[in-house]
Amino acid sequence: MIILKLGGSVITRKEEDHPTLHQENLERISREIAHSGVKELLIIHGAGSYGHPHAHHYQIGAPIRDEEDLLRKREGFCVTHQSVQELNLEVCRALLQAGIPAVPLSPSSFIHTHHKRITEFNTDLITQYLDLGLVPVLYGDVVLDQDLKIKMAVLSGDQILQHLAQRLGAERVILGTDVDGIYNRNPKTHPNAQLIPLVTSQDDLNFLEGAHTVDVTGGMGGKVKELLQLAEEKVESQIINLYKEGLLERALMGDKVPGTWIKKRR
Ligand code: ADP
Repeated sequence: MIILKLGGSVITRKEEDHPTLHQENLERISREIAHSGVKELLIIHGAGSYGHPHAHHYQIGAPIRDEEDLLRKREGFCVTHQSVQELNLEVCRALLQAGIPAVPLSPSSFIHTHHKRITEFNTDLITQYLDLGLVPVLYGDVVLDQDLKIKMAVLSGDQILQHLAQRLGAERVILGTDVDGIYNRNPKTHPNAQLIPLVTSQDDLNFLEGAHTVDVTGGMGGKVKELLQLAEEKVESQIINLYKEGLLERALMGDKVPGTWIKKRR
């Protein structure tokens, strides 16, 4: 089984401060997945401009200050959830049009966190969908948090990916984003940044800058942490650029494509 993450920077216009779909990317990516012929597949997508502006505005995940703040955050939880659900609907619609039997699953309906890390997550349903040949589609969402100071948290698609890949024993993990992989510096602000083809430990990365786009769920740094944890469990992953036509199709088919691999040193 392959787990594919579609970055929010790919399927939405992340620089926008209001929800904006990247329809062209979404349709092409859906076609590439269909053409690859991959059958056992689980998809997770980021929230991009559908999630971050709301989550940031309402400060979801920050300590609740008082009754008034709780009221506001309650509203923020619903606004953010509704927005990312709309994105999920667009993603599933595009996938289905390309012939992929996509079934949407809302993380807020069945995942809990504690201090923003997943605690409860019943994966039986996901396994059953996969057994039936359906393609479950999960996404970065707001969820209930058992920490009484915050009560609600933003759960990134990257953390869901790490958790599911480990629990379900994914054969391969592919993360698609808007840059070619991990660089020694943010390639958006440093034109001479060098691509790192292989990352095996956190030490390789201590020089990493924070994500260029302000990302409440941690950007590239957060992604790498999740993937290194996964590598510890012997699941290898690769980061590739989904703006480059045909790359995803080839990666899904198992071809060697440019990008960054995250795996344990042998
Ligand atoms: P996505 O929305 O696709 O999950 P993010 O925006 O969270 O992706 O993270 C990818 C972004 O991280 C890139 O667009 C890039 O600008 C930024 N970034 C920051 N530092 C680095 C780095 N060292 N290597 C690669 N990308 C980096």
